[in-house]
Amino acid sequence: MSERGFDLVVVGAGIVGLAHAYLAARRGLRVAVVERDHRCVGASIRNFGFVTVSGQRAGDTWRRALRSRDVWIEVAAAAGIRIEHRGLWLLARRPAARAVLEAFLRTPMGAQCTLHEPDEAAALAPALRTDGAAAAMHSPHELRVESRDAIALLAAWLAEALGVRFFFGEAVLDVAPPRVRTAQRTLHAARTVLCPGTELTGVAAPFLAPHRLRLTRLQMLRVRPEPPLRLPGAVMGDLSLVRYAGYAALPEAGALRVQLEAEAPHSLAHGIHLIAVQSADGTLVVGDSHHDDASPWPFASDAVDELILGHLRETVDVGRADVVERWTGLYPVGHEADCLVAAPDAALRVVVVASGTGASTAFGIAEDVLGRW
Ligand SMILES: Cc1cc2nc3c(=O)[nH]c(=O)nc-3n(C[C@H](O)[C@H](O)[C@H](O)COP(=O)(O)OP(=O)(O)OC[C@H]3O[C@@H](n4cnc5c(N)ncnc54)[C@H](O)[C@@H]3O)c2cc1C
Repeated sequence: MSERGFDLVVVGAGIVGLAHAYLAARRGLRVAVVERDHRCVGASIRNFGFVTVSGQRAGDTWRRALRSRDVWIEVAAAAGIRIEHRGLWLLARRPAARAVLEAFLRTPMGAQCTLHEPDEAAALAPALRTDGAAAAMHSPHELRVESRDAIALLAAWLAEALGVRFFFGEAVLDVAPPRVRTAQRTLHAARTVLCPGTELTGVAAPFLAPHRLRLTRLQMLRVRPEPPLRLPGAVMGDLSLVRYAGYAALPEAGALRVQLEAEAPHSLAHGIHLIAVQSADGTLVVGDSHHDDASPWPFASDAVDELILGHLRETVDVGRADVVERWTGLYPVGHEADCLVAAPDAALRVVVVASGTGASTAFGIAEDVLGRW
């Protein structure tokens, strides 16, 4: 079967593909999205839905995150996607972590963020475990969506409101612009953008091979806090300050890393840091860990989950935290920039977010890719 009449074919219906579809359709292009699964089940629905601005790497990533946050607000309103909560509280337990936050606040990225003494933070954010803490930073920029619902709502709205055609359950086998071939059909379009996520050995392999990407596997949990509590926004802790490049690149992060190597070596070895966000039903999505490999081992470790839950307990004033779901997710790593954009020829772009930042930056990336094409 032959399908004609498209200006752009997008391969992959994760957030990166949907962001390109949205921005292209809004420019009046006729867009098709081809997705091998019957619905998106990749990184884009397994994540925290945490659109993070503060802590992103200075430069493109931070700029794209700020822009994406605004586009998320726009599409959420149009597509019926709930914003679960806004803002970020980063609780510094160690004085060395406070020093990193103070340094961050002196950078341009710290504008509008505020540092609070523990007693002040306790009044503003009672769910935080402020006893014995060194300080807490509030960032107003962030928001959170429930990804497993949001991605499906976004795709449905793109189809209904902007006329984007979706072909689910069809793997793209071959791309030779202007043709994109699946087992069922050949689509024709002047331009194609490949957004294959973790599929590094498939149709995008010839363009990705020189970059030697690998994958990292994350462990994630959903817990029900008892008694119920309300998070004041997304919550992070000391380990995040040596993981997120916007903080970790500051000279002050060196002393914190040395201290964490002595005090939390197992967490560092498993690439653990804390993010906790909340869903409408009161449960918390909590993570995460990072284990890198070319083909990550699929077996999740209970010991790693326990370490993550320990960091939740030292950061959030949670009584019981019964685990109600566990899952793993993957994303590519190993590129020097957070996002890899390859332009093998005039009609083709390959876009892979090679860091855990795609939910936060996809719309900004798509604006850059389409704007410069
Ligand atoms: C556990 C976890 C937590 C995370 N937390 C956050 C967070 O809080 N904030 C944040 O900003 N980022 C976070 N990330 C990162 C973020 O989720 C990813 O960067 C983002 O989802 C990548 O989107 P994508 O569209 O590139 O990939 P995906 O969502 O994996 O989508 C790629 C799609 O392409 C399809 N595909 C591949 N090959 C083909 C083919 N040949 N034909 C057809 N379809 C194909 C796949 O089936 C897939 O659906 C997290 C990631 C994980 C795993």
